Amino acid sequence: MFNLSVNILRGKDKIGENLIEVTDGNNKILLECGIALEPTDKSKEIEKQVLFTEYDAIIITHYHHDHSALLKTPLKAKKIYISNGALKILDYCKAICEENKQRIEILSDQKVFSVGRINCKSYLCDHSAYDSYMIGLEESGEKILYTGDFRSNGRKNFQTLLDKLPKKVNLLIAEATKPTLYNQTEKDLEESAVKVFSESDKVFILQSTLNIDRTVSFYRASKRTGKPFIMGLSSADICAELKNIPNPKTFDDCYTYLSYSEDNATHEKTKMAYGKKLLGRSQIVKMKKFTMQINAGMLEYLKKLNESTELNSSVLVYSMWQGYKSEMQEFLDGVKALGIKSVDLHVSGHADASAINLMINKTNPDKIEFVHTCKEDAFLWESLLLCLKYGGVNDSYVERNMKASYTKTRKSFEELEKMGYIVYNKKYDLKN
Ligand SMILES: [Zn+2]
Ligand SMILES: [Zn+2]
Repeated sequence: MFNLSVNILRGKDKIGENLIEVTDGNNKILLECGIALEPTDKSKEIEKQVLFTEYDAIIITHYHHDHSALLKTPLKAKKIYISNGALKILDYCKAICEENKQRIEILSDQKVFSVGRINCKSYLCDHSAYDSYMIGLEESGEKILYTGDFRSNGRKNFQTLLDKLPKKVNLLIAEATKPTLYNQTEKDLEESAVKVFSESDKVFILQSTLNIDRTVSFYRASKRTGKPFIMGLSSADICAELKNIPNPKTFDDCYTYLSYSEDNATHEKTKMAYGKKLLGRSQIVKMKKFTMQINAGMLEYLKKLNESTELNSSVLVYSMWQGYKSEMQEFLDGVKALGIKSVDLHVSGHADASAINLMINKTNPDKIEFVHTCKEDAFLWESLLLCLKYGGVNDSYVERNMKASYTKTRKSFEELEKMGYIVYNKKYDLKN
């Protein structure tokens, strides 16, 4: 009989809808408070229910919308746990209301706290959101680990995290966003960026402002190719608030600029904040080379820039999920018309099967619940994990896996074997 009961309100069959309740009968915790990316009547009903429930604590692993967006509305929680980095970013984005701010407790690496008799511990992890955490919960020796969103292909050493985690849990609640075997790493991306940057003097970057690791990668590639790094204003503002992250206030080779969308008050405030590090368009056109973060609303700005400087040998680096491209087609076509070539450089912020396999090996769970995932992917995840477990993976399969888009297709073990995936599974009967 478990002391802790878990109710996964949402997240088992949709990516990015995690809402998980954990209770020991006396105290109630809510893990995450995101909103659905594609709202339905059912998801709205669940959100309403969450807003009316009195929780002893709400624990939020990171600032992505699908984990934190209900923070805009006053929540009935005695305490709300979130990291300092996430709080700063949500505050900057005006994504947390005053009432909720009054009840914030800050998470840090290996912080221990209790909610009634439930002991909790937060573990710093790597994800495409800065200052993200996994959460361990324990009562009377019974343990749960909730991974939140994480990856092993970022800059943080994954083994360092694994070493901190419990050796045995009763339940592992793990993210399983997109079934891939091995993702490319953030370091791989930096190397590709160095190659691309060295071929063009002027580089424009289209990325999420809130993907701080990505900003670091492009800053590093920029520095390695001798280019000043011109940051978008919100990127500059956010990074200036964080510790040791490139920004115009404390890094000599970082600058910022104003596009047309800002009002007069913002202009004045920005001039005060950045002084000479704020570049005008007339200064940018005189620069022989640079890396510049832009956004999809800046086609007119680029056209103006093109009137005074040659942009036809420059490059646009697209560093986001491919699915967003359709929403900015007009911008991308406009960029192409200016003679700017486009290159895709992106790596995943989510765990691949090898990361989840290592997580399972470390925590030896009695039971695993996958969340932040699609139902259709369950079989492929299972196949990938079984193959890793029994040591049967070969590289040509990995390569094809990257190229092929069969993530929604069910594959039998026979098919996987034919594809050269399972190489030495013979001594195990994977079919059982
Ligand atoms: Zn998420
Ligand atoms: Zn996330």
